[in-house]
Amino acid sequence: MDYYSKEINQLIEQFSRLPGIGAKSAQRLAFYIVSEPKEQVKQFADTLVSAREHVRYCKCCQTLTDREICPICSSKNRDHSTIMVVESTRDLAAYEKTGKYNGVYHVLHGAISPMLGIGPNDIRIKELLVRLESDEVKEVILATNSSLEGEATAMYLSKLIRPAGIKVTRIASGVPVGGDLEYTDEVTLARALEGRTQL
Ligand code: ZN
Repeated sequence: MDYYSKEINQLIEQFSRLPGIGAKSAQRLAFYIVSEPKEQVKQFADTLVSAREHVRYCKCCQTLTDREICPICSSKNRDHSTIMVVESTRDLAAYEKTGKYNGVYHVLHGAISPMLGIGPNDIRIKELLVRLESDEVKEVILATNSSLEGEATAMYLSKLIRPAGIKVTRIASGVPVGGDLEYTDEVTLARALEGRTQL
């Protein structure tokens, strides 16, 4: 399979490691890169390295950010008494796009999955519990995906949080079963949020 030079092969290999990029797309991207002006490619590469270097987890909500405390957590205009729990920063972005949510978030970075050996200690639940110790929190909205793992995580969290006397709600099941939140359209997400029920 040595149609191309070693350098091009390496580039194709790097691209094919990315999620959602198959062999054909990897080839297309590799050839695109080598045909681009050098300066542009350098800028692209620098951006990649810099993002990886500077992006970290928000100390409060655990979302990916380039600050110690992310803009949402540090905003005075957000309602800090309502925390929406999501699986990923992409889910957070999906809810932000609806423009219908003014509370703050907590990003778990995954969901509980006995099948994959992912337990409560493998996702950012501890960090959530620390936040709940503050009197300020009045409601926790469980907005994990409606997949098996997402439901299991919501159940687990609900049992853990309810005894503390904090209102726990679950987003309505308008979100397609097994569907990743990030691919659900804004109207459906806004409705799911609106129609949340108390657990
Ligand atoms: Zn934050």
